[in-house]
Amino acid sequence: MSHTISTRAKQVDRRPMTFMESLYIPAILKGLRITLGHIFKKKATINYPEVQRPFSSTFRGLHILNRDEEGRERCTACGLCALSCPAEAITMESAERKPGEEMLYREEKYAANYEINMLRCIFCGLCEEACPKDAIYLTQTFAPSNFDRKGFIYKKDDLLIPFPAETTQKIETK
Ligand code: SF4
Ligand code: SF4
Repeated sequence: MSHTISTRAKQVDRRPMTFMESLYIPAILKGLRITLGHIFKKKATINYPEVQRPFSSTFRGLHILNRDEEGRERCTACGLCALSCPAEAITMESAERKPGEEMLYREEKYAANYEINMLRCIFCGLCEEACPKDAIYLTQTFAPSNFDRKGFIYKKDDLLIPFPAETTQKIETK
């Protein structure tokens, strides 16, 4: 008695091919008929990247490292995002804030280096959930393709949102 794991088991036809079947012409014509039938149907594919599908409002894309309202880096290199990441995609190195750097870093400790390996990331958003400082967010930006593995390692400079122009002026005039 045979056992199957689904009800969709199909008996394979093992009888020898007829002369016509061995020429493969009927099979080729059948295949061409299916191809022709699809030419006039609505295409399931799109011309990416020229054309992009609209994303769902809950779509989670590339991460950003956020700044506070004064333009200071929010991340305090506590490591909770890295701990909560199921893909072990986040690594960081912490550093201590020096006197005079209060306008750059919000907390006494900050991330001197911060990296996310987008080849590992599954865009689950757990890092965002775990962060006690509102420092990391997943945006609606799609992670671009790349021919080089290194291009998928996003460093702090790639992730950190740009320094606000007003804050730059404030620091320069100090
Ligand atoms: S989105 Fe998920 S997998 Fe990606 S870095 Fe954050 S916690 Fe890790
Ligand atoms: S992004 Fe948030 S959770 Fe991750 S190290 Fe920085 S402060 Fe901690």
